Amino acid sequence: LSDRDGKIWYNGELVDWRNAQTHVLTHTLHYGMGVFEGVRAYETPKGAAIFRLQDHTNRLFNSAKIVGMNLPFTKEQINQAHIDVVKANGLTSCYFRPMAFYGSFKLGIAPKADDVQMIVAAWAWGAYLGEEGLRKGIRCKISSFTRHHPNVTMIKAKANGNYMNSIMANTEAHQSGYDEAILLDAAGYVAEGSGENIFVIKDGVLYTPALDVALDGITRRTVMEIATAMGVKVVEKRITRDELYVADEVFFTGTAAEVTPIREIDNRQIGIGERGELTTEIQKRFFDIVQGRNPDYEHYLTYVG
Ligand code: PMP
Repeated sequence: LSDRDGKIWYNGELVDWRNAQTHVLTHTLHYGMGVFEGVRAYETPKGAAIFRLQDHTNRLFNSAKIVGMNLPFTKEQINQAHIDVVKANGLTSCYFRPMAFYGSFKLGIAPKADDVQMIVAAWAWGAYLGEEGLRKGIRCKISSFTRHHPNVTMIKAKANGNYMNSIMANTEAHQSGYDEAILLDAAGYVAEGSGENIFVIKDGVLYTPALDVALDGITRRTVMEIATAMGVKVVEKRITRDELYVADEVFFTGTAAEVTPIREIDNRQIGIGERGELTTEIQKRFFDIVQGRNPDYEHYLTYVG
């Protein structure tokens, strides 16, 4: 990933991709204290459009506030950086990685408060859980790793170090022959995927865990809005592992994962064992919105121009 043509926004400048480097004594590399986002731009009839950019940037700044980092740029500058990297790299659709991290000024546990570095990178990235996964659904495993306790790592912060837990869960799932992990919270209830929120459909009602155990996903919010517009009742509640097994449909949401059906959990077929009826409709509406085919949701699109 480091050896490419193109530009990365780095502390206010568009620098050559290969030169967007940092020192091995970078504080965040050692302790994982940093915050980031995952954002997508889609090709629309009016050119590339970034989906819910302001919401992602707001979450980035909230994450920084939660972990106590002072970001040295304004939200407007970070929003503009996204537009600039799309243009500088000639992209029509892409994934973005904005991140704030502590530099190498000092390496004690306490970082130098004003040594905060920021990047916004963008590159073309297809379906995170595969095109086939989007169409047919994926196979998941309940992880042996527990999701974060809200007073250990901060769940509402999309913080770098939180992803150690995600990586271990995802790796374990892959090594066991599954596509993705589903993590339970410290009390044993369903929390989320390693990088996705989770939804359950039972008797026409859409259920999802409340935000005390999962990231406040922006795709999650969009899907709840879509379902409500469809006349589907949406309920946030505690969900047990066995409720997943007997659900009619289960799916993941995420900026990377989009709306990905889950067809199997712990070797039990979920519903009809393929993308379910409601999941199909929600997924279709989601892609219509992000790809600029639904004027009711234009306010979520930032056209790159
Ligand atoms: N949960 C976790 C742990 C994640 O990493 C992500 C991806 N950001 C999500 C949920 C989904 O959030 P969003 O829809 O905002 O991408």
